[in-house]
Amino acid sequence: DTLQVGELARKLRKETSEIIKKLMSLGIMATINQELDKDTIELVAAEYGVEVEEEILVDETVFETYEVEDEEKDLQVRPPVVTIMGHVDHGKTTLLDSIRNTKVTAGEAGGITQHIGAYQIEYNGKKISFLDTPGHAAFTTMRARGAQVTDITILVVAADDGVMPQTVEAINHAKAAEVPIIVAVNKMDKEAANPDRVMQELTEHGLVSEAWGGDTIFVNVSALKGEGIDDLLEMIQLVSEVEELKANPNRSAAGSVIEAQLDKGRGPVATLLVQNGTLNVGDSIVVGHTFGRVRAMVNDLGRRVKTAGPSTPVEITGLNDVPQAGDQFMVFTDEKKARQVGEARFNKHQEAMRKESSKLNLDDLFSQIQEGDIKEINVIIKGDVQGSVEALAGSLNKIDVSGVKVKIIHTGVGAITESDIILASASNAIMIGFNVRPDNNAKRTAEVEKVDVRLHRIIYNVIEEIESAMKGMLDPVF
Ligand code: GDP
Repeated sequence: DTLQVGELARKLRKETSEIIKKLMSLGIMATINQELDKDTIELVAAEYGVEVEEEILVDETVFETYEVEDEEKDLQVRPPVVTIMGHVDHGKTTLLDSIRNTKVTAGEAGGITQHIGAYQIEYNGKKISFLDTPGHAAFTTMRARGAQVTDITILVVAADDGVMPQTVEAINHAKAAEVPIIVAVNKMDKEAANPDRVMQELTEHGLVSEAWGGDTIFVNVSALKGEGIDDLLEMIQLVSEVEELKANPNRSAAGSVIEAQLDKGRGPVATLLVQNGTLNVGDSIVVGHTFGRVRAMVNDLGRRVKTAGPSTPVEITGLNDVPQAGDQFMVFTDEKKARQVGEARFNKHQEAMRKESSKLNLDDLFSQIQEGDIKEINVIIKGDVQGSVEALAGSLNKIDVSGVKVKIIHTGVGAITESDIILASASNAIMIGFNVRPDNNAKRTAEVEKVDVRLHRIIYNVIEEIESAMKGMLDPVF
């Protein structure tokens, strides 16, 4: 809070001698190294028509610095936030619509559905929030930006089709995020429905039904006919209780951006999911690199609301720019502070866009291991045939270089896709292509996300490359 005379002179862009004279005229005898207190600084600054703003330290951790730790006694149960994933055409959208249409929040019936990226329903007097962009791409894109919003994943598997490639991807994405999975076996109304086959196939991916002695909950539903929906919601509430989801509604809000865009009439519009605290109209807020005051809030039924508690999605206006899905937001009690933090983050954001981000990279893996940052090397493998993918995964799993091991977080057959790259980015993983290449979208995304993609044709070469990288013996690539 203090400044030396010389420092003050620099900040005011004046000669030190002039400041000393000014101080003398104010009755203060000072030398160049003398510490001045806050009042004196303000006094001198005012002489030059400068208003003193307290400088606040802004760095990556600024949100955490301002985040208040909640005490156990202030925590209350909050609704779960659910994401629906699964293979294309297995009924994700139909299920989301079916749940929404039948279980609108009590007292809200008659509202007009607004697609703001998430909605909330009420079942047995308790609320449940759903993200209504189904699929793991959105889920993992958010995670790549640091947002961990999903509490429970519903894995939709069509009973007449069984486990398909995107079913497996969804499982791996949910596992990578350590989010519990409930399986909804859908299309039970169909003649060809075979739920036992779904159970059997999922067993191979580590999801063993309770009926078979495992601990994964399976619910049979027909999203189209609205059958089994109540069972599914009950299971969501059960898992939610086990997870002991809590938040403190009596503090200023913090959370994540679900989606955002520029609206012609209203300016930047963002759907925020409140994850802790309560958001109010009029709050000073920093959202990613943007900031402002919450001008208006609208819920998923298009109704204006004044407050939004934990796990509630609301669409807000009043920001100076459009944030990104997955950005974090935080309310500041002091508007000036919100502005300062917002501006600082904006500058940092610009800077970061220019600078390279530091993703896991085989070329400097050794130094990262040396610094003790890494205990496991996350790896994703895509290959041309299942057999070689499994062989490669098996060999990589055996690698152990002074206690550092390889962890395979996803494998698959086929070209490297954008979704693979996003998972790699979110999980800070190395992407290995075995006799396959990235498609064009994947290539572009890998460049943007700085994911290290390694292409090989011989298993031995992959193993050697990873081992060498771990030992710091990789030949530099130019
Ligand atoms: P998504 O791609 O996973 O979002 O799948 P959709 O929800 O778009 O559903 C794909 C197709 O399956 C649509 O034609 C739906 O009407 C149909 N469908 C979804 N759920 C059911 C169901 O429970 N029973 C039957 N028979 N068809 C369903």
